[in-house]
This record gives sequence, C-alpha cells and structure tokens, in this order.
Amino acid sequence: MAGRDPERARGPERPARAVVIGGSVAGSLAAAALADRFGEVVVLDRDAFPEAPAQRAGVPQGAHFHALLAAGRQAMDALLPGFSAQMLEMGAADLDSTADVMRLDRLGWSPRFATSLRFLMASRPLIEWVLRDRASHLPGVTFRSRSDVAGLLGDATRVTGVRLASGEEIVADFVVDASGRRARTPDWFAELGAPAPSEELVNAHWGYASTFLRVPDGWDPGFRALACVPFGEGALTPESERRAMAMWVVEGENRWVLTVQGSAGDYPPRDVDDLKAFVASIGAPELSGALDAVEFPEKIALWRDTTNRLRDFAGHDGRPERFVALGDAWAAFNPVYGQGMTSAALQAQALGDQLATHLAGGGDLDGLADRFYAATRELVDFCWSSSTALDHRLPGVEVTRDGEPQEVVAGSADHGDRVAAWASLDPERYVRYRETTQLLRSNAWLQAPEVVAEIQERWDELGAMVTAR
Ligand SMILES: Cc1cc2nc3c(=O)[nH]c(=O)nc-3n(C[C@H](O)[C@H](O)[C@H](O)COP(=O)(O)OP(=O)(O)OC[C@H]3O[C@@H](n4cnc5c(N)ncnc54)[C@H](O)[C@@H]3O)c2cc1C
Repeated sequence: MAGRDPERARGPERPARAVVIGGSVAGSLAAAALADRFGEVVVLDRDAFPEAPAQRAGVPQGAHFHALLAAGRQAMDALLPGFSAQMLEMGAADLDSTADVMRLDRLGWSPRFATSLRFLMASRPLIEWVLRDRASHLPGVTFRSRSDVAGLLGDATRVTGVRLASGEEIVADFVVDASGRRARTPDWFAELGAPAPSEELVNAHWGYASTFLRVPDGWDPGFRALACVPFGEGALTPESERRAMAMWVVEGENRWVLTVQGSAGDYPPRDVDDLKAFVASIGAPELSGALDAVEFPEKIALWRDTTNRLRDFAGHDGRPERFVALGDAWAAFNPVYGQGMTSAALQAQALGDQLATHLAGGGDLDGLADRFYAATRELVDFCWSSSTALDHRLPGVEVTRDGEPQEVVAGSADHGDRVAAWASLDPERYVRYRETTQLLRSNAWLQAPEVVAEIQERWDELGAMVTAR
C-alpha cells in the first residue's frame, strides 16, 4: 500500500503470527502496525462485523459522537494511508477547526477565523469501518468475527497465544489486547499465574444522551460543528457548571449527530423535550435555536459508563513477555475529552516503530513490550492527567486504587484557565494552543519561562477574562 515502508516487508526472519484481540479502532490500527513484520496477523472479535458502516453490539458507544483529534487523524493516515481520503469519499466532512467550528467554553465564544488546522467529522461507525476495511486489505491480515477470546496461553513469564470460548487455541508469537474498556486482562493474567497490574478508577459520574438529527435542506446555522463546554466554576448558569453539548455534521444526507453531557450525576434525559430543556439550561440561546430548527427522527441513546480507568501495565514488573494491552484495554479515559481513538492511534504507531527498532537489533520478541510501554507511557500519562484533572474537581467524584477508596486531591484550574485566556489573545498563538490540545504539539512551549512569566504578570487581567464573559 502506498506510503508504507517497503523495507519492512522482510523475509525469512519475520515472526510467524501475531494475534490481536478486538477488531475495533485500536485493534485495526494495531494490525496495521504489525502487518509488515509478521507472517500473518489474526484479528479476533467476538462480535459480527457489519457489511457497511453501522452500529454493532460490541461497540455500544458508537451511538454517541466521537471527536477525532487532529493527531489521531494524522496517525491513522500514517498507519493506513488513504484513511482520510476514503472517509471523505464516504461522506465525512473536513472542517476548518476555527472558521467552521463554533465553540463556547469558560472564556466565552472562541475566535472564528480561517486556519489550516482541520477536523475530520463523521460518525463513530464510519471511522471504525474505514479503519477495519483498510487494515483488512493489508497482506497477511485476517479479521475473524464471532471469535470470543476467553484467555491467554502460556505461563506467568510469557504469552504464547489465546484460547477462544469455543475451546480453540491459537498459537502466536505476540499478542495485543485491544478488547476495549471492559477488557478482562487482569483475570487472564491471574489464570497464567501472573500478578494483575495496579488499577486506578476516577468516576465523576458523567452521562451522555445522543441521537442523529435531520437538518433542513441547505441549513446554514453559521457553523458546521458546535461545541459547548462551559463547565466549571464561573459558568453561564448554575446548571452549566455541570452540563455540556455538541452537534456536528456527519456522513449521510442532512444528517448531524447531537450529544448532550452532564456530570456529577446530573444525567441528560432520553425524552426530546426534556433534552431540549436540559440544553436550554446551559444559558446560551444559540444552542436552543439550533435544536429548535432540526428534527429528531431517531431514538435517543444513553450512556453512563464514563469512568476513567488506568491499568498500570507500564509500571508492572510482573508482566508476561510478548503481550501488550493497547487502547481502552490499557487506559480508558472519560470520553468527554475525546482522547480515546487518538491515544489508541498514537500507541499503535509507537508499537510499529518500536517493533521495527527491536527486530533490527536482531533479538526475538522478548523485551518488545518494555520498549512499547517506555515509548508510550508519557502519552498515556498526559491523557490521563488531562482527562482526570477536571473530574477531580467535580462534586461526588470517586477515586479508587486497586479497589480501595482514595482521598481526592483536586488541583487548581487557575493556571490552566489563564493559559487558555492568554492563548486566545492572539490568533497565531490560539492555533498553536489548539494544536497542543489536539495532541499535535507538545505543551512544552506553554512551560517556557517567558510564557510562565507573562502569565504571572498578567494574572489578574487573564483571570478576569475567565469570569467576565
Ligand atoms: C460514550 C463514549 C463516547 C466516546 N467519545 C469519544 C470521542 O469523542 N473521541 C474519542 O477519541 N474517543 C471517544 N470514546 C472512546 C473510544 O470509543 C475508544 O477509546 C476507542 O474506540 C478505542 O477503543 P478500543 O478499540 O480500544 O475498544 P472498543 O472500540 O471498545 O472495541 C473493543 C472491541 O473488542 C471486542 N472484544 C471485546 N472483548 C472481546 C473478547 N473477549 N474477544 C474478542 N473480541 C472482544 C469488541 O467486540 C470490540 O469490537 C468514547 C467512548 C464512549 C464510551
């Protein structure tokens, strides 16, 4: 496939088989990362895959909006060249991140001007379907549906394959667990006699209500995506401290997706009129105006399993060799921050890079998992801390480590709020800031001494911007 490294398709010393558990976003991307280096890559999923993009039982979150961060799109295009082009052919929208997107946060409405930072907007079923379609055409990659993995083969020191619920055993040189938020990896480790990784949970009791909308012919509300995330102290109304919503164009005729969110147990309702009232309580008339102009032809889907869950595979000394957990199976973030698919894509890219380096060193596959976690730990820690920071400040948040309740230590939002305010003062700087939040750019530039000094000097002025709106 164009853009892939022909040097990777090397001959006889290639390990024979990799198995990937789960054929969704993380699984398809992991298969792409492994394809050139293994004789075959077998992707197993317990679900049945649809012929065309559609909701499926194994990925119930597909009914809710899925924001794809710019870094995730870039990594998907690198792993599966032609991803964006196929998405656009199948009806996805390519939006200017500021000109086409209207965004309300604690600083008020974001500036609107043309930029080169672009967002790919589509439904979650389309994103997943295109990834699997492209991965399934790679040489040596096979997707097997209705294949429920029930355990790992091997012992406490090394994984040697997987066991299906049917009793079938599949031997493998390397196994990737991409079985998602409800992955049973700790139980599978226990069966091998290996200790479970330490596990941290942060639950701020967020809930989702989502549906696909029909918009009028030629509808032009002045945006093609609307994101309203004003929560936290100093919000527009008491309700909007806990509430958020977004809607945007997706594939299909006159079709948009709507997701409404509430935190701290303030869950959005399933009834259309109640949902509109919930959105109206956020206090921005633009939101209600948009919802009054559209039809709700489909049922409203609810979701409440939004706990951040981190299994510390990276710091786990007792891990068996030749096995990694990737995507939500490693770290499942509160989806409100839209990091899951992007984190999975960046992890898969790192797996491919580390595999190439590791094999070039002439060794076997022992030690690859160490390299993978060393290369990706910082990314996952960054996503984890940004995803849990606000949640730690919400009332009623529950934090546990290995099942034991933990004292909640809420960091202050004061500095982060002022950084956002400072960034919004200059268009060029604002785009760099958005690139940082889209994981395209490290946040090191925001910690430069001159930036920190300027924020300190203008502390009160910037702070006033957060509450003045
Ligand atoms: C409500 C909600 C909204 C979200 N919004 C966003 C967003 O805006 N942006 C974003 O980037 N991310 C979002 N996410 C997160 C995103 O869905 C995941 O991070 C991303 O899809 C990566 O998931 P995954 O491939 O690891 O797991 P999943 O997509 O959950 O897939 C797991 C796969 O494993 C299969 N499987 C499970 N167990 C087994 C087994 N034992 N044997 C075989 N197969 C098995 C399942 O059938 C499924 O196909 C959201 C999540 C939720 C819940």
